[in-house]
This record gives sequence, structure tokens and C-alpha cells, in this order.
Amino acid sequence: MSKNSPVPFLDLVTPHLDLEEELVAVFREAVRTGRFIGGDMVEEFEKEFAAFCEARYSIGVGSGTDALRFALIAAGVKAGDIVITVPNTFIATTEAITQAGAEPDFIDVEKSTVNMDPDGLRDYIDTKCEVDSVSGALMHKGKGRPVTAIVPVHLYGHMVDMDALLTIGDHYHLKIVEDACQAHGAGYYSKREGCWKKAGSMGAAAAFSFYPGKNLGACGEGGAVTTNDESINQVVRMLRDHGQSRKYIHEIEGYNGRLDAIQAGILRIKLRHLPEWTEKRRKNAAYYTTRLDDVEGVNVPQEREGSTSVYHLYVIHTKDRSGLQQFLNDNGIAAGLHYPVSLHLQAAYKHLEYKEGDFPVAEQSARQLLSLPMFPDLTDEQQDKVVEKISEFLSMEK
Ligand SMILES: *Cc1c(COP(=O)(O)O)cnc(C)c1O
Repeated sequence: MSKNSPVPFLDLVTPHLDLEEELVAVFREAVRTGRFIGGDMVEEFEKEFAAFCEARYSIGVGSGTDALRFALIAAGVKAGDIVITVPNTFIATTEAITQAGAEPDFIDVEKSTVNMDPDGLRDYIDTKCEVDSVSGALMHKGKGRPVTAIVPVHLYGHMVDMDALLTIGDHYHLKIVEDACQAHGAGYYSKREGCWKKAGSMGAAAAFSFYPGKNLGACGEGGAVTTNDESINQVVRMLRDHGQSRKYIHEIEGYNGRLDAIQAGILRIKLRHLPEWTEKRRKNAAYYTTRLDDVEGVNVPQEREGSTSVYHLYVIHTKDRSGLQQFLNDNGIAAGLHYPVSLHLQAAYKHLEYKEGDFPVAEQSARQLLSLPMFPDLTDEQQDKVVEKISEFLSMEK
């Protein structure tokens, strides 16, 4: 590879070419048996993914957005409820809350990890809510609606400080649904339980996405819910399949939200490689961090002690983000923005009546963040080029 070859943001071709024969065999099997929906491939994948997440159950669904929506409904979120999340996430998080019939509300994030801030949650409850003396429910005073669930987002593959959230959740009967769409295999040391836990094993339920660019990606759309709760497992199984408990017996109204057999077969093959891909991502992240740590004007991502990130994204913060992005782009380096506009400032959420300044940490992050190329097969030479161009830009700025 020459010094001038472009550095892509991610590589969706190489890992599939490496596995091409096995992946194509899945399609051949489906064509020859006619089993496209449900069946062994889906069930086997569900067992293997549950084991990978150290959760009791996993249910394959059509996308990460389906997974979030079904997990929220199955956890008991009802029309008119308020569900708390963060403003610096992909809109699917809040879309799913609205689609479950609830209204999303936001709290700010902590500066170090840009993940949900447990102190912010305590503050929200203390200042905006009261416990109803009759029902015991947590009520939002201004909106007169019950607050029933929290969706922490394990952003960029780094887990939220779950112990603190679970303690608050237990106290106020709030269901915690993890948005683990970027965090397949991420680890967290739980002091409450005295052991390491995996993303998707701590909340009432969790949602994963298998969108092709995610750490575990299908060759199309896909998602999964994980849970340790037998009743949530049963309800999500019905929700994804028109509310059926058996063929044409509909206990509830559901959705068409199944994971198809070909994607499940493909995911089974790719899941076997995920630990090795994650190790490579972590190695690449460590290399970036070592080399960028003493570049003035760049803040590298922080990994909290007792947390292992799976580095879905490697996101730095810098003052002149747009200038740096342009400069990298001009030099053939693709960098991304996750996400450039906080959700509370999007037209889609005008009705929530938030304004600039309401969530200063998330807003500052949105202005300063830049996602660098990150994928398992990224080479040291490619990373060196990225780091050198960043240093060059920042020294020009002075
Ligand atoms: C990708 C993603 C989703 C949505 O997943 P889809 O499979 O695209 O529906 C939700 N939340 C977060 C944080 C994501 O990154």
C-alpha cells in the first residue's frame, strides 16, 4: 500500500471476501431447502448470541430499531409514559421510544465518556419528578406523566456506568433497556454483582443492531433483543411475529419484525470471528491513543476503569472539527460525525421545546467530535497516516 492510498472509514468488503465460501453456502442451503423465515438457523443463532452476551435469552428481529421498540413494549412501557435517554445518539433510540407510545426526554451526558450521566439522572428525578403517594409511580411534575423507563446508550462501544443506573432504577421502579446497538461484546465490571458483565446482560432487556457497519453485521438488516426475563422473552417473540403464540393464534397485536434465516446463518458464521475482530479494534484503538495522546489539541476517547470498549467507533474531540475533517478528507482520509446535531435540536423534536444550551455537554461534543477510520483490518501504516495528518493540521493552526 502506498503512502498516498486513501484510508477508508470502514471496510465492508475484506471480511466478507475472507468468508465468501461459507457465506455463500448459507444462501445455497436456504435456496435448496426453501427455509427463508424462522427455522433452525434462527434458533441456533439465537442460542449462540445469547451465550455470547451472557444473557439467558436472545430473540432475532428485523433491525436494531425493532429490537428497541419490542424491548420497550415488552418491558412494560405504555402509551403516555416518559422514557429518558440522551441527546447524543442515533435517532433510532428516540424513534423506538415514540413508536412504543411513549415520549422521549433527555438528560445530559458525562464529559469523560459522553455516555449517560447517573448524576444527571438523579438530578432529573430530584428536580423534575415526584413519587405519586397513591400508586408509588415516579411522575414528571411539569408533564403530569409517569416516567417508567431509561434507555442508556453504550455509545461507540463503551458501556454506560450501569451499576449507578440500576440502583436508581430499582429505587424508582424504572425499567432499564440498554441500547447496545454499538456494543456487541463490551464488558463492564459490576461492583453490585462482584463480577464482569457483558453488554445486553444487565438491564431488563437490551437491543442490538446487525446493520452491516456494526461490529457484528448481517449482509442486510437484522437485530436482536437480549434479556434474562422469561416473560419479556415470550412477549418479544410474539411482537416480532404478529402477536402469535402459535400459528394464527394472536394473543396481542404485533409487528412483522423477524430476523430472516439467511441473515441468521450469516450472523452465525461471523459471530465466531467477532472476538478476534474486537481484539483487533481494541489494538487499533490503543495504537491511536498512544500516538495521539501527546498531540496538543486532541482529546482521545476515555475508557473508564472496569470497562472494556469494543470501539465500534474511535471518536476524538477537537476545537476546529470541521477544518480537521476537511483537511483529512483532502488527504484521502475518510472521517465521520457521530452525531453532528443533538437530537433535542432536531426539527423532529421541536415539540419537546428544547433549545440550544439545554444539554451543554452533548452540544459541545456534537461540535467537536470526529470519528476516525476504525475497523479490524486497519493497518499501522494507515493509522500512522491518519495521526500524521492530524498533527500536521494542528501544527498549521497555531
Ligand atoms: C444502529 C443503531 C440503532 C439502530 O439500528 P438499526 O439496525 O439500524 O435499526 C439504534 N441505536 C444506535 C445507538 C445505533 O447505533
